[in-house]
Amino acid sequence: MRAPNAKTSLNEPQIRRGAIRVTPEVASHLRAGHPYLFRDALGGKAPHHNSGDTVEVVDSSGEFVGRGIYDGEGVVAVRLYTCDPNELIDAAEIRRRVESAARLRDRFRPQGEGNAYRLIHGEGDGLPGVTVDRYGDYLVAHLFSASLEPLRDWLYDALADLNHPKGIYEQRRYRSLGATGGSESTRGPATLERGEAAPIEFEVSENGLRFVVDVTAPLGTGLFADLREGRKLVSEVAGGRRLLNLFSYTAAFSVYAAKAGALETVSVDLAPRAQLRARRNFELNGLIAEGGAHEFLVGDALKFLYRFADRKRQFDLVVIDPPSFSQMRGKVFSAAKDYRELVTAAFGVCAPGALVACASNMLKLSADDLDRAIGEAAYAAAKRVRIVERRGLPADFPVAPGYVEGHYLKFFLCAVE
Ligand code: SAH
Repeated sequence: MRAPNAKTSLNEPQIRRGAIRVTPEVASHLRAGHPYLFRDALGGKAPHHNSGDTVEVVDSSGEFVGRGIYDGEGVVAVRLYTCDPNELIDAAEIRRRVESAARLRDRFRPQGEGNAYRLIHGEGDGLPGVTVDRYGDYLVAHLFSASLEPLRDWLYDALADLNHPKGIYEQRRYRSLGATGGSESTRGPATLERGEAAPIEFEVSENGLRFVVDVTAPLGTGLFADLREGRKLVSEVAGGRRLLNLFSYTAAFSVYAAKAGALETVSVDLAPRAQLRARRNFELNGLIAEGGAHEFLVGDALKFLYRFADRKRQFDLVVIDPPSFSQMRGKVFSAAKDYRELVTAAFGVCAPGALVACASNMLKLSADDLDRAIGEAAYAAAKRVRIVERRGLPADFPVAPGYVEGHYLKFFLCAVE
């Protein structure tokens, strides 16, 4: 691995070591904006590059396709940073991209949306393999590959300079070839890279509501910014309804609903720690004092659905947001099939006229798959169901054209008769 060096460009020596040649089809994908050259597309050839090297990709006639960073380990062999032959991957270019990302947020983030949002969204901001989230005065960068380490100093220097955070943390999310998503649970806490350490827990705001976050927590800081459009939609429809929030985590959906006048909220999560933070979020927003209408239940979502159905307990608004990987009833969650089972059971606790929100960030479960799972669930539960709203990623999660997988977030609101 090449040592980070802010003074030199990474580009020149590697160009002489030979470009990576790709088929016309792969070249056209890359030229249309897809930022990843997958290892499969190398046709079994192992290029003579080290992880972290800047490499050139050319088409079958030797024409320049793009320049990117070679990764020797994962399913992605090259993360393409530019299709402009004159653009280098150096400190100045990384700084320009950090500046451009900030400008986009200034233009497109609604006023009053708060201080917890995505500052750099990987390939959508021309920095594939890197995301940076802002939580108040602190930034958390996620690095998705060790091959990107040569960029970190340039990135952190630019962020410190342009965004003036009190501290910058780094969370490494490296995955080696063949590793499953389960390996993510072995992540360590984020490490401080610039500035001062953050308090163990502190408050951020979103749309006038308050949430506690821990920026060093390995698996989630406490608030997922990408679900913000879904939270807004829930708050628009929650007034006067009884909410059941499944896979509630820190209960952000429940806080939005309670503030918007939900009659009661029931938040269900397997993790007792998540429920402690859920209660804190309710307290912070002055919602606990308003009576016993808010329950925080620890346990399996599906089991609770069957229990509620047995007891004939009904709801007018159900939110379903399962994790990608989970031990549901002792087995690994399988996206499409288990989603259908969840929605079927959720329809079983719906009062007439209820709304069911189905969310998923699983790449494996496409919008079409989710649509179908809901349709099959409606059939199984013998309910008439219509999808009335679809929300996706907010403006702080821009997606590069030509990279359809970038639209990973699904949030469908269904009306149930
Ligand atoms: N809806 C949340 C995010 C969900 S994260 C939000 O608005 O922020 C996924 C959550 O599902 C985690 O908190 C995890 O503890 C929980 N979980 C995983 N398996 C579960 C299960 N079988 N039943 C209930 N909760 C589960």
